[in-house]
Amino acid sequence: MTEIVIDHIVKRFGAFTAVDDIAMRFADGEVACLLGPSGCGKTTLMRIIAGLEAPTSGRILFGGRDVTDLPPRKRNVGMVFQYPVMYPTLSVAENIALPLRYDRAVSSVERDRRVDEVLDVLDIRGLAGAFIEELDAGNRQKVAVGRAVARQSEIVLFDEPTTNVEVKAKLALIRAFKAVTQRLRQTIVYVTHDQTEAMTLADRIALMKSGKIMQYDRPQQLYNQPTTEFGGWFLGNPGMNFVPASAEQGRITSVILAEPLAAPAGLPQGAGLTIGIRPELVRMTGAAGPQTVEALLVDQAIGIAGRYLTKARIGDVLVKVNTEGIPPAGVGQKVHLSVPREDLMIFADGSRVGI
Ligand code: ATP
Repeated sequence: MTEIVIDHIVKRFGAFTAVDDIAMRFADGEVACLLGPSGCGKTTLMRIIAGLEAPTSGRILFGGRDVTDLPPRKRNVGMVFQYPVMYPTLSVAENIALPLRYDRAVSSVERDRRVDEVLDVLDIRGLAGAFIEELDAGNRQKVAVGRAVARQSEIVLFDEPTTNVEVKAKLALIRAFKAVTQRLRQTIVYVTHDQTEAMTLADRIALMKSGKIMQYDRPQQLYNQPTTEFGGWFLGNPGMNFVPASAEQGRITSVILAEPLAAPAGLPQGAGLTIGIRPELVRMTGAAGPQTVEALLVDQAIGIAGRYLTKARIGDVLVKVNTEGIPPAGVGQKVHLSVPREDLMIFADGSRVGI
């Protein structure tokens, strides 16, 4: 197993900085997802790890070995892309076995064993003799995954491998992918813009924005404890609410709060703070209660799997609310909102402070 060290990598294309001084480590045998919006630099960083792109500055180390100047084929990494290259005249099993045929260190017995193993783990044994052109996109990607992992290279890189796979096959692919990674414990870097995929697959998620890593954390930690407004907004469906707040004389006030909060020590005074609260943690009732504030329901509730997504307005502040049952009122009617103190987050200049 191999740790990957990204040592202050910068990548510029002309005047544009695609990767902006990233320094981090991908731990041995973990699945790390690079997650972020389109254009944030995920693919560029992955291509630099693969050796397909040279960094403007910085070093890449695999297991302590500096590989920055090595070409891709000398880095011994497996790769799976959006559009895998397949050999249509070969069977599934032969496609998986192909890279192993060129590896003198792998005997034919060992080759057959590895092909058998990935066919089983990926649940495609029944397709072993099928030709690639007979497969749908999901199964093709399973073969691509199988081929990449059967080499047993210590590092495997994935660039949005499920993009062209339809929704149902996607789930099967993700399940197979999870089984493979748990079994083989290779160090995996997986690029995606899909938060559900990242939350499902990753041991750790590196959340990227504008060429920088905003947070590198376990999925639940990233969701529950975002260190930036960007993290709160990007994760979640919909993302976190941000309500203006201000601090004065040790107290935080905001239209979302029935009573002021005690401000944590060192909090900047004055306006310009933001209270973050996830839509599913806002409580909505028909009647007023302790700690509730009055609001106007302004959006038709949309039901998804027993939960209802709607919006309420307090003055000119819109609050997204995700309730467990049908909201207690209709559009244009009064509701009451409350936010548990323990679920609130305070941000100043986009970064989390206190609480
Ligand atoms: P996507 O999910 O859309 O692929 P990404 O996060 O993977 O997004 P990158 O493909 O890494 O983003 O691109 C980051 C930025 O660098 C983009 O603005 C892109 O236009 C730019 N870029 C990437 N490759 C080049 C290149 N060869 N020349 C110039 N600009 C480039």
